[in-house]
Amino acid sequence: MSGVVSADVVVLGLGIHGMSTVAALAARGVRVIGIDRFVPGHGRGSSHGRTRMIRRAYPNPVWNPLVEKAFDAWEALERASGEKLLHRTGGLYAHEGASQLQGPDCVLVEDRAEMAALMPSFAVPEGYRAVHDPSAGVLEAERSLIALRRLAEAAGADLRDGERVLGWDTVADGVEVRTDRGIVRANRLVVAGGSWAGTLLPQLSDLLEVWRILTVTVRAGQPAGIPSALGAFSVDRADGLVFGIPDADGNGVKLGVDAGEVWDPETPVAPPTPAEADALRDLLHAYVPALDTAPVELAACLYTMTEDKRFVIGALADAPEVIAVSACSGHGFQVRSRDRRRGRGSRHRGSTGPISTSSRRPRG
Ligand SMILES: Cc1cc2nc3c(=O)[nH]c(=O)nc-3n(C[C@H](O)[C@H](O)[C@H](O)COP(=O)(O)OP(=O)(O)OC[C@H]3O[C@@H](n4cnc5c(N)ncnc54)[C@H](O)[C@@H]3O)c2cc1C
Repeated sequence: MSGVVSADVVVLGLGIHGMSTVAALAARGVRVIGIDRFVPGHGRGSSHGRTRMIRRAYPNPVWNPLVEKAFDAWEALERASGEKLLHRTGGLYAHEGASQLQGPDCVLVEDRAEMAALMPSFAVPEGYRAVHDPSAGVLEAERSLIALRRLAEAAGADLRDGERVLGWDTVADGVEVRTDRGIVRANRLVVAGGSWAGTLLPQLSDLLEVWRILTVTVRAGQPAGIPSALGAFSVDRADGLVFGIPDADGNGVKLGVDAGEVWDPETPVAPPTPAEADALRDLLHAYVPALDTAPVELAACLYTMTEDKRFVIGALADAPEVIAVSACSGHGFQVRSRDRRRGRGSRHRGSTGPISTSSRRPRG
């Protein structure tokens, strides 16, 4: 057990949100310690795997400014790291009947020949329409976390892996964080604990539910899966939206379903069973029939869901030194968080102010 160390900010969790926060703070010269109970690349949370989708098409214009910032932030990270992290492939989002999807440059496509011209490999179900999002694409998830870590360390951040936060107390001038290796004192604590948010911040627990989400990834380099033939796609279905990520830069096509059983993150997430793997392959075969669907990777991962799929970000009403960052609901990667030093809170609907449970229950 080591002694007491101090910092300006402690960040709990080094998934995409914690790691982005640490890198942004360190770049501003803030003394920051980032702590994660597991080691980099672990498969227990929500940020592992090679790819994620980024898109502008969202069901409500309230998202548009945040999504713009997200695209800018990814381009800024590419410049800072010198890495290619965002591949623009375009996106086609299929749905029955009316769709709320909207966004800059996004258009409704009803003509099947036009859909086929936009995305030749994507077999849009009969009777479906689609929204085309020319800006959508693929994020290099794994590479992004490595790049952020490299930038954070180069800027002086103290990263601690395999160290578990056991609890914290607010003290006179900030917070005292207890870990299984010692104590850290700081002015602020950012809790970016992913699926553990409800346990780490009990005041948020009734807002959040954790789901087990499964994906299949197939052999890279297949002509039907590369961006000239396939972009980001989704099919809106009653039993869960199917999402597909094309094979940009040799990652292979990945498919998953936005639905899964409730899961306790303390239990390692179970990989897909053979029956679950077959079901994923059948979906891939249905929507991208020219692909060889033999899996090269079957993975399980966790979503932290809110009822309205919005994010919970902000200072706690009863502990303003503590800032919660719970941004998932299956679309948190693209909007990685950056600015937590000032401790002002925002629940993504433009309202600012501390988080307290009563006023924040999501509306439909
Ligand atoms: C299959 C799948 C597909 C997805 N697809 C997309 C997509 O296409 N586009 C998109 O934008 N988003 C997507 N998402 C969502 C996105 O990946 C998540 O929103 C994002 O990764 C959440 O990151 P996080 O940092 O909040 O959580 P995590 O990455 O889970 O990080 C939380 C960290 O906190 C640590 N921690 C927890 N408790 C403690 C403790 N007591 N002490 C120390 N450390 C602790 C954990 O070890 C963990 O590393 C997808 C998610 C999944 C699962």
